[in-house]
Amino acid sequence: MNVSAHMEAVYTEVRRRNPGEAEFHQAAAEVLDSLAPALERHPEYAETGILERLCEPERQLLFRVPWVDDGGTVRVNRGFRVEFNSALGPYKGGLRFHPSVNLGIVKFLGFEQIFKNALTGMAIGGGKGGADFDPKGRSDAEVMRFCQSFMTELYRHLGEHTDVPAGDIGVGAREIGFLFGQYKRITNRYESGVLTGKPVGWGGSHVRTEATGYGAVYFAEEMLATRGQDFDGRRVVVSGSGNVAVYAAEKVHALGGTVVACSDSSGYLVDEDGIDLELLKDVKEVRRARISAYAEAKPTARFSARGTVYDVPCDIALPCATQNELGLDDAVALVKHGVLAVAEGANMPCTPEAVKVFREAGVLFGPGKAANAGGVATSALEMQQNASRDSWTFEQTEARLAEVMRGVHAECRATAETYGGSAEDYVLGANVAGFLRVAEAMTAQG
Ligand code: GLU
Repeated sequence: MNVSAHMEAVYTEVRRRNPGEAEFHQAAAEVLDSLAPALERHPEYAETGILERLCEPERQLLFRVPWVDDGGTVRVNRGFRVEFNSALGPYKGGLRFHPSVNLGIVKFLGFEQIFKNALTGMAIGGGKGGADFDPKGRSDAEVMRFCQSFMTELYRHLGEHTDVPAGDIGVGAREIGFLFGQYKRITNRYESGVLTGKPVGWGGSHVRTEATGYGAVYFAEEMLATRGQDFDGRRVVVSGSGNVAVYAAEKVHALGGTVVACSDSSGYLVDEDGIDLELLKDVKEVRRARISAYAEAKPTARFSARGTVYDVPCDIALPCATQNELGLDDAVALVKHGVLAVAEGANMPCTPEAVKVFREAGVLFGPGKAANAGGVATSALEMQQNASRDSWTFEQTEARLAEVMRGVHAECRATAETYGGSAEDYVLGANVAGFLRVAEAMTAQG
């Protein structure tokens, strides 16, 4: 079978085996579309069924999560953990608590995680999990009871050498704390390395909170530098207003750029003075309110419930909200406004049509697998610190993160060139480089 027929057969099998899982199909197609040059050069990977094996998770867990709300009513959610690939290390990837979570979404995220984690060069496999639980509007006590019930089922599948979850949308330090407490209670082990994203005071790593956002900006900075450009004086649009968006914005401001707009699920916010991050954090993290509360507090800001944040002209766009949030029309608008670079802080935020527009227009495009690898890379640094019972300073940890991001960027460019593309084809570079590292380990392990 020739390489393209082989790819087609693998993709057909993904769709047949996973009916209705549109996001997983999309993520698989995105990777498979890049891999032809790698398979041509390494026919042994086709012969040993590496692609077929890669597309089928090693283990998929689905479980009931019953909990009692503050009114005494019993609620039931569904929990997930997809342990996708352990060739390079323990399964590693976040937990997402959001009403949209289903098996297809967890699988798409877990699949991406395999390649992202491989690209960091660190010893981490790929996995992802979560629940269709909506933490919005829930009290701390309800979130605690939910997390305890979730861990009561999941703990048996975890371990610092087995599977190490972290946060993602809807799961931050509060949830990680409740999850860790329950793991410890059940197992009677203070196993620091079983979860990452812990608070710094008891086993967490400095920079973990900031890492995904900072990392995406470092990646964009590296891309811009290849064209003799930087963030200084640039207008930047960031979508989302969660952990990734806030710290991406913080780093942009530190580098002399101005983040003029951000968003949440209710609409978007423009502040030509530059988004005031203390106010944004107060609105989103402390008050857990809608982004419009920012505009109510600051007269220079404007909130809009219509249109998208990408209608705001900018030099650099950092999509940091969620999958498929930036579509064809948004990409066309950004190109029309002369955008120079787009780096994905979220997982798969740009649709395939949008990515095509950027690539054809010569916009520097950093795919999430590369651009948002800083979060999981810092989780791996947290695991290192836990394993050695050590704790590094903020500066030390940030220097390691910056080094990893520079390495990921260089690896994407070098691999893209070696496999027949231009150095600026970061999609090709990220997919092929991640794939080769995993395929080599899988082959060696039989
Ligand atoms: N959820 C993050 C990601 O998508 C971080 C995962 C982790 O730290 O394990 O990469």
